[in-house]
Amino acid sequence: MACGHDHDELDDSGKVIVPEEVQEAIRTLLRWSGDDPQREGLIDTPKRVARAWKEYCQGNGTDPAAHLSRQFQEVGGYNELVLLKDIPFQSHCEHHMAPITGKAAIAYMPRDSVVGISKLARVLHGFAQRLQIQERLTAEVAQCIWENLNPHGVAVVIEAQHGCMTGRGVKTPGVGMVTSRLLGCFLEDSRSRKEVLSLMGY
Ligand SMILES: [Zn+2]
Repeated sequence: MACGHDHDELDDSGKVIVPEEVQEAIRTLLRWSGDDPQREGLIDTPKRVARAWKEYCQGNGTDPAAHLSRQFQEVGGYNELVLLKDIPFQSHCEHHMAPITGKAAIAYMPRDSVVGISKLARVLHGFAQRLQIQERLTAEVAQCIWENLNPHGVAVVIEAQHGCMTGRGVKTPGVGMVTSRLLGCFLEDSRSRKEVLSLMGY
């Protein structure tokens, strides 16, 4: 169930209780990859891994748009773009459950309301804390701001490294993938687009 994380039972020390079947699944994987889940160093690993995954995926069942509900109409005549850049984030790819680590730049051109700047990062994290592909993450962040703030334009650029590429498969550390989603004036007006991309450093 999507909102399961709200109802996890906690042990005496306040940690999420990990069901036996979840621990066993991780032991199975350890065994299958050639290790011995009974050796000392791995005894508590299934619990740790399970709790870590709860945390990586804590965006599941949440609505990131909720972070945009508090809007300020008093913008003092400010009608230029708002940009938050170099926002670090971590996500996990849905194909390998491997880490995606990178940074995002998020901009919008307000129409009649703005939000607290940290809210843009919260929207990003809400979508990042679930299994993702970078393209969808980029699109979802942009769409969420577009629909909830009703701005003149939204621009989201994400640059990230994928653990499934750097640590396995073709093993290419250092290779970054860049994705972007531009909406409204940033899509339609080449001057606005150039301005926002250059402020973002692209
Ligand atoms: Zn992958």
